[in-house]
Amino acid sequence: MHSSTGKILIIDDEAVIRNMLTAILEEDYLISCADNSFEGLEQARELSPDLILLDINMPIFDGYELCRLLREDPQTKQIPVIFLTALTSPEDESKGLEAGAADYISKPINPSIVIARVRNQVLVKQQRDYLEKLSTLDPLTGIANRRFFDQALDREWRRGQRDEKPLSLLIIDIDSFKTYNDNYGHVAGDECLQRVAELLSEVPHRGGDLLARVGGEEFAVILPDTPFEFLEFMAQKFSDAIRSAAMKHEHSPVDKFITISIGGSTWVPNKDSNAIEMYKKADEMLYQAKNNGRNQICLAGP
Ligand code: GH3
Ligand code: MG
Ligand code: MG
Repeated sequence: MHSSTGKILIIDDEAVIRNMLTAILEEDYLISCADNSFEGLEQARELSPDLILLDINMPIFDGYELCRLLREDPQTKQIPVIFLTALTSPEDESKGLEAGAADYISKPINPSIVIARVRNQVLVKQQRDYLEKLSTLDPLTGIANRRFFDQALDREWRRGQRDEKPLSLLIIDIDSFKTYNDNYGHVAGDECLQRVAELLSEVPHRGGDLLARVGGEEFAVILPDTPFEFLEFMAQKFSDAIRSAAMKHEHSPVDKFITISIGGSTWVPNKDSNAIEMYKKADEMLYQAKNNGRNQICLAGP
């Protein structure tokens, strides 16, 4: 597992506690501090730390309340919270756990306990993040999978509707790939898919674009804020990238090399339609490209 330096946010109104915890932890973690709950909430949203160390007794609103607010916010609900407390009754402890705390550190502070409890929570958080990341990737090619693609398309549709910006989509399908497998074997087929994914991801694109493997030998690209003219340009780039790699496909009825067919569409998202309709349109255009003889691009404008 790839682990990075954990980020910790300390929220406590007493400077002496913040300083002491910083001194104990700063060698192993990136530390930020807030001296009140209001600023703590802001920082939690901005920094998305791996762990929050949270005091209970604070002015404005207390640690329990802040912990509840953190749990309710989709941006912060994944962040584990350890309460720092001088309160030790079972009632206090259950109140904290109900508010969603992951653990407790009691005051006065014992450095080795702080180190151990912090390490545990940061590790669990980073493992969870890692698994979540894995669940969005296609294992064969390492690019985004269908699940992630569907969520992204839906998100971009809503964003496009809000901003009144055109959204573009391409579906890319390898021609006669069944024949490729039949002739070169499934292992070579897998390698070909990896190479195609690599070539497609090397095509220069903007940060917000998303390339995903959406089916066996089918890929798709989401291009937010992209007008039709630019979609035509991009489709050509993807097609050129595969053509210039000249990957042998001797039994293809289309060419001696691997070729792709591309379908695409541009929509200005509106409330009368949805992302699924947009995908269907691009898929229809792909079908048309296949029907017209493959190795070509068919696009539908807005
Ligand atoms: P068309 O030009 O109409 O797209 O024909 P095609 O043969 O590419 O399409 P078809 O849908 O008939 O076959 C797709 C083939 O892709 C069938 C399947 O064996 C192969 N395939 C799908 N997923 C994988 C994979 O993960 N690895 C390998 N090696 N082959 C795969
Ligand atoms: Mg195919
Ligand atoms: Mg296919």
